[in-house]
Amino acid sequence: MRTLVLNAGYEPLAVVSFRRALVLVMNNKATIIKADDDNPVSSTTGEYERPSVIILSRYVRVPYVRRVPLTRRGVLRRDANHCAYCGRSANTIDHVVPKSRGGEESWENLVASCFRCNNVKGDRTLAQLGWSLRFTPRMPSAGMARSRPRPAPARMGRFPGASRLALSACEAEPESLQPPHADSTHGLEHD
Ligand SMILES: [Zn+2]
Repeated sequence: MRTLVLNAGYEPLAVVSFRRALVLVMNNKATIIKADDDNPVSSTTGEYERPSVIILSRYVRVPYVRRVPLTRRGVLRRDANHCAYCGRSANTIDHVVPKSRGGEESWENLVASCFRCNNVKGDRTLAQLGWSLRFTPRMPSAGMARSRPRPAPARMGRFPGASRLALSACEAEPESLQPPHADSTHGLEHD
């Protein structure tokens, strides 16, 4: 069973295992606001409420990052006009995971490709071809992808996993009053 973690401002932050949620509660970092009364957690040290929803005691800041707008030219520039598959001069762009297989338009899924590789690859995946990428495609830094005419201003957006990172940072914070007991849920059943 999973537990919904709300930030101190009541917005949903993450879904975690009930064990992880219980550790947050035991370390006074969160309070249970809804428990599954029919299924208490039994352990060698007693019975605990099984949290369905918890709320963090302190607000954690979820960082925002500048998203660089995705352009065809930006992808070619990031990859220095070199084919991501063979390294030769490239002037087309290719979806690593083909669109027909749910591949998205993103910095992580678009690469520069030479005409030949693009043609050979078609709608197939790298695994099917036994190909590999010469680098891991990522969003470039803001200045690097700029092209003329200037693209729309970069939008602010959360990067995937930002909420989870913020929660992990909160968990890692030492407790000022009592030290967190990493193994305080020892003996609890697995979920
Ligand atoms: Zn190529």
